[in-house]
Amino acid sequence: MNKPFIPQLVYFEPKAFDYPLGKELKEKFEALGIEIRYTTSHNQIRDFPGENDLQKYRIAKSTLVVGIRKTLKFDTSKPSAEYAIPLATGCMGHCHYCYLQTTMGSKPYIRTYVNVEEIFEAADRYIEERAPEITRFEAACTSDIVGLDHLTHSLKKAIEHFGQTELGRLRFVTKFHHVDHLLDAKHNGHTRFRFSINADYVIRNFEPGTSSLAQRIEAAGKVARAGYPLGFIVAPIYLHDGWQEGYYHMFERLDAELPQDVREDITFEFIQHRFTKAAKNVINKNYPKTKLKLDESARRVKWGKYGISKYIYQKDEEDEMKETLYSYMEKFFPNAKLEYFT
Ligand code: SF4
Repeated sequence: MNKPFIPQLVYFEPKAFDYPLGKELKEKFEALGIEIRYTTSHNQIRDFPGENDLQKYRIAKSTLVVGIRKTLKFDTSKPSAEYAIPLATGCMGHCHYCYLQTTMGSKPYIRTYVNVEEIFEAADRYIEERAPEITRFEAACTSDIVGLDHLTHSLKKAIEHFGQTELGRLRFVTKFHHVDHLLDAKHNGHTRFRFSINADYVIRNFEPGTSSLAQRIEAAGKVARAGYPLGFIVAPIYLHDGWQEGYYHMFERLDAELPQDVREDITFEFIQHRFTKAAKNVINKNYPKTKLKLDESARRVKWGKYGISKYIYQKDEEDEMKETLYSYMEKFFPNAKLEYFT
């Protein structure tokens, strides 16, 4: 994904035009000659063009719905933040193992919400409730918000909003490198900008429609130079031939790109690959040619919330993975903070 995302089809909820961003987006998409349709609810779009499920799925993933966020009650987002701030839902990327595959089911299209000021007011109420504690908001729970933000600038507004609050903090993670418009945002050090990174092999084979490793690393360098607190999520850590070299090379490239003076405040999160039976079915349906190994018998079971079992690596594999990645982190970034391995 070298070019920033442009939707193939756009839907508007009529109420979106009551907000400046709704009007602005309509003008933008009309000027681009994109087909515009109307819907009464961003939750009920079904008639995607396409001759079969796979084609409809592809079109849905490049459809943008511009609507209003009605529910201003935020979900919790432990452990990385107290709340999820809902700026958008869905993603244009095609990562085979994306968690949205199962959580969004029949609604793989992208939704953006134009009532951003109301969303920020709701965030401010949550901040007030917890004062004098700091309250952290995660903006990437239901989408890759950076991949969309060149169109809406909602994330940029959120960064500047939290920059002005005393006790609010923002964080998000991305697999996209389209960060230039965010570099001059007045973040005031209150936003942690995280990149999801992986070995080259994993990105090339399982993350179509996202930015390459080199592009993400270059973007991380820019973000660091713009003074943002920086973080990396290495996820999903996936065992493949040559995985040790692949992850070593990833750290080496990070080391080459990141300025020395930003390394005191870098965080790392490590997440090993996992899947559920439901996810396996969806992945095989949407990406029938995937090389992703989803063999339950090669994994061990971990029971998650609500009694749903996940398949993670065997204990000895997990230990080796952990030891290897920790040693690379310590070698290249001895002052970085390890948040967790899961
Ligand atoms: Fe899912 Fe993130 Fe990939 Fe988008 S970039 S498809 S949110 S894993």
